[in-house]
Order: sequence, then structure tokens, then C-alpha cells
Amino acid sequence: MKPATHPTLLVDSIGCLLTLDPDLGDGPLGIVEDAAVAVAGERILFAGARRRLPAPYREAETIGAGGALVTPGLIDCHTHLVFAGDRSDEFFARLAGRSYEEIARSGGGIRRTVEATAGASDEKLRALARSRLDRFLAAGVTTVEAKSGYALSPEGELRLLRIAGSLGHAVSVVPTFLGAHVVPPGFAADRGAYVRVVTEEMLPRVVAERLSGICDVFCDEAAFSVDEAALILGRAKGLGLEVKLHADQLTGNGGAELAARLGALSADHLERVSDEGVAALSRSGTVAVLLPGAVFFLGKRSYPPARKLLDAGVPVAVSTDFNPGTSPTENLPLMMTLAAVELRMTAEEIWTGVTTSAARALALKDRGRLAPGLRADLVVWEAARPEEVPGRFGGVAVRCAVSGGRPFGMGLDSRGASH
Ligand SMILES: [Zn+2]
Repeated sequence: MKPATHPTLLVDSIGCLLTLDPDLGDGPLGIVEDAAVAVAGERILFAGARRRLPAPYREAETIGAGGALVTPGLIDCHTHLVFAGDRSDEFFARLAGRSYEEIARSGGGIRRTVEATAGASDEKLRALARSRLDRFLAAGVTTVEAKSGYALSPEGELRLLRIAGSLGHAVSVVPTFLGAHVVPPGFAADRGAYVRVVTEEMLPRVVAERLSGICDVFCDEAAFSVDEAALILGRAKGLGLEVKLHADQLTGNGGAELAARLGALSADHLERVSDEGVAALSRSGTVAVLLPGAVFFLGKRSYPPARKLLDAGVPVAVSTDFNPGTSPTENLPLMMTLAAVELRMTAEEIWTGVTTSAARALALKDRGRLAPGLRADLVVWEAARPEEVPGRFGGVAVRCAVSGGRPFGMGLDSRGASH
């Protein structure tokens, strides 16, 4: 199908437009005051000053922004979207003094979610994931990464990827294969056998069925060693997949260095990253995905060294790490607030972290900025300035979101979109 060239939607009377494209506006966020965005089909046709808007574009169906802030749709580049079950009791167990590792060893943690997920039907998992996507959209998120990893068997992992890839929601979902989330209990005595299940049984099928273009590994003392992660991710690269990893979260073990060596899209968490790890990431151009919500919710103070990473030139993304155990929130704007308070990131760095850097962490070249030809994913905020979104603690200030050129007012139906 030829891309549409006549406007199908106009977002007009924008007080402050963040294009995230320095060629289109002022500063690194590419800010344009008194702006408009014209959309043709799924794509952006025009983004810039109202006075430059071609006259025929004014005929399109129009959303009046009333002087509000408009930004690209937020991209949440690290979530564990598809699962069943509830682990809120573990939150209180941790606050009473039990550690995440202790809870995991006694049958809680990821393995408990694996059991609950195995007992849920496809329909149930779909319904749960869709209601979570509703909340993401209400928070201004139009693209969500969704990792598998709550099945740990070939059939189960493929099932989770198929579900993630067929939710039919206004929010686009990018499925990521995380078969190496933890070693299942049945393989405790022979970890190598599980690594072979991942490399020889799961990965070839993920590729053959085109279920995901990205492979992730939880590289940590509680999960997979650096050597095991290197084996799995090396195989994934050999099969043509992009790679990323959960690195240096609970223990600093050189995960960031491995990510850099593999040319990974991203190294995620990094609470315990070493100075050598920071230097390696800055050389490789790997995105550091920081997840302050997980540190906060675990009741820790070990926030990742965001300033060190940024000052070393590492691109930094900010994400929810949405999952049932350590960060059960779809509120990415709240993570933006934590990024300001706990990671000491500037408003410019935070906005970059939930748009262009997040897109880069998922190898998405068609979004994260508002420029002609890119996907028409944008948010009209109940705010006038970019600082107001992270500056509104725990609140969500979305008036309307546009995903793939289709507007979704909050409370409108977000189902049935074809992404
Ligand atoms: Zn995670």
C-alpha cells in the first residue's frame, strides 16, 4: 500500500511541541512553540511551527491541543508484560526483612510467577496483558517492550511470545525472548542442560517462527553467569537476533562489559556497574536502561550511577521494568520523577530517556521523535511545559494519545487496533 500523502489528522494549537529532533526545533529536545503536527495514515506528514503548516493540511480532522504540551508517545523499553498471579505479599515480606534472594530460594520470586502463568489460559493472559496496556496508554506510553521468561520451557516461552505479539492493542508491543530468565528448578543440578535447551531448542524456533527479533538474558548470581549469558547471546547473534541483558543488578559481575563486547542494544539495571563497565558502554554505544522503580520498590538505596553514565556519554533510557515482583507499575511518568530525584537526571535527559534512547534500546528507527515519515505516535498532555510531566509526582496528565495515527482519548476504546 502506498503511504497516504493527504492529511488524515491534524493536532493543532500546540503550545509547546517536543519533536526530539534538533533539526526541527530548539535545543536537544527540538522544541517548537505554537506548533502543529499533521498526520497521514500511520505516519507524520508535518511537525513544526503553525505558521509553516501548508494550508490544505488545515482541512483534516483536528484535535485542538489548546496550548498544551505535545510530545512523542513514550516508549517503555523494558517490561515483563505477560504473566498471571500476584506477589504483593512478597513486598511486605521484604519490608519485614527478608531479602529478594531469600524469597526466591524459598519458592517465591520468578518461579512463583512461572507456576501461576502455567496455570492460566491464553485468553486469561491476553486479558491481563491488555488491561495493563490500557494503563500504559493512560500514562502516555504508546510502545511497550514485552519479555517472555515466565514459562522456562520451549512450548511455554513460545506461547508467551505469541501472546505478546498478538494483543491487538493501541499500544505497540515489541516481544523480546527471555528464555534465560532463571534456571528452572528441574535443571538445578545441570545448568548446562538448560542453557542447551535455550540455545538449541528455543532460539531456533523463536527465529523460525519470527516471534522476536531480540534475545535477553538475566545475567546475575541468582540467574545466569557471564559465561552462560555469553554462550546464549552469542548463539542468538549467530541466528541474526539483536541482544541485550539484565546486567549488574543485584551483584556486579561484569554484565556491562559483556554487553559492550557483544555490541548489545542495551544493558539494563546497572545498579552495581563498575567504572570499567561504564567506560566499556561508552565505547560500544550500548544504551544503559535504568529502572529506578525496581530499586525504589525493593526498598533499596542502590540507584544506578546515572550521572557517571551520562557524563561518560552513554545513552541512557528510563523504563518501568513492569513486573509482578520488583516493579508492579505501568506509570512511566512516575519513573521520570524518580529519574529526576534519585538519578539526578535533567528534564532534557529524562525526556530523551523515554523517547529516542528507549527507541534505540529496541532498535526502532521509526519512532521516538516527531519528524515527517516517522510513526505518528504522540501525546497531548494536561501540561504546558516538559518539566511538568516528571514534576507531577505519581500523577498522570494525559489528555489524549495518538498511536499509529489513531487518536485515543482517555476512556475511549483502545482495543482492536492492528499492531
Ligand atoms: Zn527486567
